[in-house]
Amino acid sequence: MKLFETVKEMGHEQVLFCHDKDLDFKAIIALHDTSLGPAMGATRLWSYASEQDALRDVLRLSRGMTYKAACANIPVGGGKAVIIANPDNKTDEMLRAYGRFVNSLKGRFITGQDVNITPQDVSTIRQETNYVVGVEEKSGGPAPITAMGVFLGVKAAVEFRLNKTDVAGIKVAVQGLGNVGKNLCKHLHENGAKLFVTDISREKTDEIKCLYGATVVEPNEIYSLDVDIFSPCALGGILNSATIPQIKASIVAGAANNQLEDEVLHGKILEAKRILYCPDYVINAGGLINVYNEMIGYDEERAFQQLNNIHDTLLEIFSRAQKQEITTHEASKRLAEDRILKAKHLKAMALA
Ligand code: NAD
Repeated sequence: MKLFETVKEMGHEQVLFCHDKDLDFKAIIALHDTSLGPAMGATRLWSYASEQDALRDVLRLSRGMTYKAACANIPVGGGKAVIIANPDNKTDEMLRAYGRFVNSLKGRFITGQDVNITPQDVSTIRQETNYVVGVEEKSGGPAPITAMGVFLGVKAAVEFRLNKTDVAGIKVAVQGLGNVGKNLCKHLHENGAKLFVTDISREKTDEIKCLYGATVVEPNEIYSLDVDIFSPCALGGILNSATIPQIKASIVAGAANNQLEDEVLHGKILEAKRILYCPDYVINAGGLINVYNEMIGYDEERAFQQLNNIHDTLLEIFSRAQKQEITTHEASKRLAEDRILKAKHLKAMALA
């Protein structure tokens, strides 16, 4: 990868390569865009196959955070960090070293928990920096609010594509019954939707079957079900050339990050199949809304109010995409870029 060319093309402001000599600790912090405010993005710890993979991941995820914040209309920018390590070798010393790197950015980057970082790890990082959010005792974790946001997004999609004001009788296939998927099933069930679910954990499918009368299917059967909505709440990259041809649903609306394996190609294939795709970073912004509220002083009611923007923003994206004959992915990207450009103009005017 040609580093500066890639960074220029993707629009990053700063990429910090962190190395603690004594611990041989390695991390990369990427600040994509801070026009709207300090870069926010969680920290992922992963045993990457190569440093190139780590860099690719952090650059893509940090750019996604910029778009997510802009579409959610929250005054923060986009960032992300990856710690390159085996999760089994995670130590408090390592997390504290990482906290010192975060602190060195003096608030230009505010982080939280992602894969392999627990609320307890966040507390350890916090010993070195105040620029970390998501400590569980404050907000209760982001999943319930993310699930609520996805549910509101589902309602927007149902209004737009199926011309219905509620989800009663709508058939939804949910892939992944973790923290978000499980909460989403609850909202769907309580509002009269019919659930079809899958997970690699038998315990989780049994629970949802028992709680909400869901029909359980094998993981490879979830794509081809005769349902109205496919809701990916497990893995990234699951909208691809192998799965899209199987999908019978007319709406894709779920929490998983980076659902489109290739944003342009697979966005277009979905559009060609007349499948309404809810851009992942718009519909799953509840987690970010949650941590943002924690940062400015947690208020659950305000956070839930901000969630309603997900519904309205998606409706705006759907109609822009229809009018401009572009994919919903492209429409959401343009909406975010418009908002960032306006913020830059305002800043420039204020400085003039
Ligand atoms: P989680 O780890 O709690 O749940 C994921 C679930 O998917 C697990 O139950 C797992 O067993 C299941 N799964 C894994 N592979 C599967 C497969 N092949 N088929 C079916 N099920 C499979 O994660 P989560 O917090 O519920 O998040 C779900 C997705 O939403 C992730 O992609 C995450 O990045 C994204 N997301 C989560 C939040 C949040 O607030 N937690 C916010 C934004 C985005």
